Amino acid sequence: MAMARTGIWFVGARGGIASTATLGLIGLQQQRTDTLGLVSTLPQFAGLPLADWDSLVVGGHDVRDASIVETVERLHHESRVFDGKLVDAARDELTVVDARIRPGTLFRCGATIEKLADASMLRLAHESPRDAVSRLQSDLQRFQRESRLDRVIVVNVASTEPATNYVDLPPRWNEVDRLLDEGPASPLSASSLYAIAALDLGMPYVNFTPSPGATPPAIGELAKRRKACHAGQDGKTGETLLKSVLAPMFAARNLEVLSWVGHNIFGNMDGQVLDNAANKSAKIQGKDQLLGHILGYDPQTLVTIEYIRNLGDWKTAWDHIHFRGFLGTPMTVQFTWQGCDSLLAAPLVLDLVRFVELSHRRGETGVLSHLGSFFKRPLGLDDHAFDRQTALLHEWAARQRR
Ligand code: NAD
Repeated sequence: MAMARTGIWFVGARGGIASTATLGLIGLQQQRTDTLGLVSTLPQFAGLPLADWDSLVVGGHDVRDASIVETVERLHHESRVFDGKLVDAARDELTVVDARIRPGTLFRCGATIEKLADASMLRLAHESPRDAVSRLQSDLQRFQRESRLDRVIVVNVASTEPATNYVDLPPRWNEVDRLLDEGPASPLSASSLYAIAALDLGMPYVNFTPSPGATPPAIGELAKRRKACHAGQDGKTGETLLKSVLAPMFAARNLEVLSWVGHNIFGNMDGQVLDNAANKSAKIQGKDQLLGHILGYDPQTLVTIEYIRNLGDWKTAWDHIHFRGFLGTPMTVQFTWQGCDSLLAAPLVLDLVRFVELSHRRGETGVLSHLGSFFKRPLGLDDHAFDRQTALLHEWAARQRR
C-alpha cells in the first residue's frame, strides 16, 4: 500500500527553525545526512508505522520576503551551521518549497514583529480576524489539493508574540467564535488565528512557540469538535531541557534548591524579537515556572535573555544552582550550555510531525499530552520531569504496536 502523503505547513516558514527543518528533511530524503538528533528514529519507536521522509511535503506562511535559501545561507556563513554542500544539493528543492509560502497574518503581533515584515503585508492590515482565518484556510486547502496530500499538519515556528497577547478568552468555543467578527478590538492574536484555521479544517496544529496558539480552552474545544489533535507549547531544546533533567535529581535526593539563576545570550532573529521586553517576558515565564512544579516549592529564580548580535544562532546559557544538603551545608552546581538553536529545534519539529501524523491517522483527538517532553509548557500534562514525560511517550509507542 502506498504511504500516505503528509504536508508540513510551517507558520514562520522562512525562519531559522523552519528553514533548518526543511533543509534537514531534504537532506534525509536525498540520503545526505543521518538521523542523529532525531528522537523518532530511536529503537523505542522501531516498528511503528511513522511517516517516511519521502512522504513529507513542506509549505507555509510567513510575513517576510527573504527566501529559505537566504536563511540557510546566513546560518551557514554567519553561524557556521551545517555543511555548505548540504545547502548546495538542496538549493533547487528549497526554491520549490519557497514558491509554496503564502503571506501570513500579523494580527496583534505587536510593533517588533511588524518591523520584520515585508511592506506588502500592509495591504492585509485591515483584514478582520474572520477574513484572515478564511484566507489562511484557503491557503491550507490549496496546498493539500495541489500537493495531493492525505493530511496537513500546521506547525507554528513564528516569532514569539508579546506577552500582552495572553488574555483570558471566554471558555467556550461559541463565544470565541464571535470574537472573530470584532475587528481590531478582537483579543485573538495571529498564533490563535492560525490554530483556529487549522483545527477548524480538522488539521492537527503544533505550537513550538510561547505564543497562545491553541492553548486557550475554547480553541481546545474547537479541536475536539472537529476531531483534530494538537500539541504545544514552546519547544524544550536547551537550558529548560537541562532544568527538567536536573531538578528531579535534586528532588529525588532530598536536596533543597535555594536559588536557580540562568543567564542566556544569543544573536539570531528570535533573539532580536526577544530583545523587546513584552516579547521577552512571554518567553521567560515558560523557562521559569517548571522548577516549582518539579520541586514542590518555589526557590528564588532569575532568568535573563540578552540579544548579542554577533553570536548569531549560537546560544550560551550559564546556570548557577545553589542548593542545601545534609546538616544544612550549601553547595553549588554551575553549568554552561552552548547550543546551536536551529539545529537543536529542527529535528524535534520533524519528530513532532511524525508522531502527530500517526496520532491523527489513528483518530486521536484533542491534546496529545504524551508529547509533553518536547515542550516547556506541556499542554494537558502537569508533570515537567523529563524522564517521566519521556516514559509517557514510550508508553504511547507501546500502545500503538498492540
Ligand atoms: P526566527 O526569528 O528565525 O523565525 C521566525 C519566523 O517567523 C520569521 O521568518 C518571521 O518572519 C516569521 N513570522 C513572524 N511573525 C509571523 C506571523 N505572524 N505569521 C507568519 N510568520 C511570522 O525564529 P526561530 O529561531 O525559527 O524560532 C521560531 C520560534 O520558535 C520562536 O517563537 C522561538 O521562541 C521558538 N522556539 C525556538 C527554540 C529554539 O531552540 N530555536 C526553542 C523553543 C521555541
